Amino acid sequence: MIRFFILFLLTTTLFSSMVERHRWTNGVTYLLFLQNHNLPVRDLYYNLDKDDQRLTEEMRAGVHYQILKDNNGTIEQILLPLNDELQIHIYKDKDSYKFEPIPIISTTKTEAFSTTITSSPMYNILKETGDKKLAQIFVASFKHSLNFKNDIRKGDRLVMIYDQKYRLGRPFSMPTLKVAMIEMNHKRHYIYLNDDGRYYDEKAHEVEGFLLARPVRGARISSYFTKRRWHPILHKWKAHLGVDYAARRGTPVVAAGSGRIIYAARMGTYGNLIKIRHNDGYETRYAHLKSFRRGIHRGKYVKKGQVIAYVGTTGRSTGPHLHFELRKRGRAINPLRVVQVTTKKLKGKKKKAFLRLKKNYDESVELHLNNHTSFKKLPPFENISYIHLMDADHG
Ligand SMILES: [Zn+2]
Repeated sequence: MIRFFILFLLTTTLFSSMVERHRWTNGVTYLLFLQNHNLPVRDLYYNLDKDDQRLTEEMRAGVHYQILKDNNGTIEQILLPLNDELQIHIYKDKDSYKFEPIPIISTTKTEAFSTTITSSPMYNILKETGDKKLAQIFVASFKHSLNFKNDIRKGDRLVMIYDQKYRLGRPFSMPTLKVAMIEMNHKRHYIYLNDDGRYYDEKAHEVEGFLLARPVRGARISSYFTKRRWHPILHKWKAHLGVDYAARRGTPVVAAGSGRIIYAARMGTYGNLIKIRHNDGYETRYAHLKSFRRGIHRGKYVKKGQVIAYVGTTGRSTGPHLHFELRKRGRAINPLRVVQVTTKKLKGKKKKAFLRLKKNYDESVELHLNNHTSFKKLPPFENISYIHLMDADHG
């Protein structure tokens, strides 16, 4: 299926169709998008099942998407990325249009750069890369351990090693930080991504970040987070953008972190839903609730661990469970990455494995410092270079 799709896009491109690249603008809904392009809302929205309809709500401002048109300007295909693994494929089929979620074909490259700090890490990473995301990720990674304001001296340097995904030859989605190194008054400070998906400093201590409590105590996880999953019975691609905790009806649900309740009411397939807004753009969602705890309502501030509701099976649900979601600036992320489960200090075998990883990372950092590795900028996007870029990535 994946191969089929690459060929499809390549061949249609060869027959002089045009691929346009656009940016999803703030405030545009999927339905509005269909209307703006005179696409049939019945086929492409109202006749879809509830899961597919839910997926259409995942379009985010700033995301790049593609429209393929024939010589007459008729839309032949549209690709709308929902996350970094799944996209909506709208395509013309004789006189009608079809909708299907399909996997995103992407390649991942490990990239790195080093730069000398003349002003602040934020300023110099932006100057070096022109990429706000990279600057934000770097600064956020040291947020709880270092204070950049006072201790940086002229000549201090930084190195960043990260994974960047590419789709159709262009970078997309959030880069994943692998190592961050910053000199402060010529002393080096590091943060490393370990194999367990968490970040540690050079002493193998976990870096304090945004940590969540388990929303239901002692519950079994019945379904994990996935950005895309093939459903063998329905024969289609789906996503599960949260974690399901199976628990008896009426089991207390606690706030996974402190924050303000911004929603506490029914919402479609979610059933009874609570949304809590936390610091740094994080939001948690608790769905299919039987009921809310007395006094829990929109606008109320709750503390981490405080009971807010009870497990139920309202909305689209097959049995009592809590569907728990974590979002960062609207984007669904795996809550288990930040749910506190283990001690925050690596020991024994795990520490040994980490130290081996760290040694490799340290050698890379040293190399990039000595080479003054600079950020590789891509040429600006042009429709014409489309095929070549795809060849380069997949050939
Ligand atoms: Zn769920």
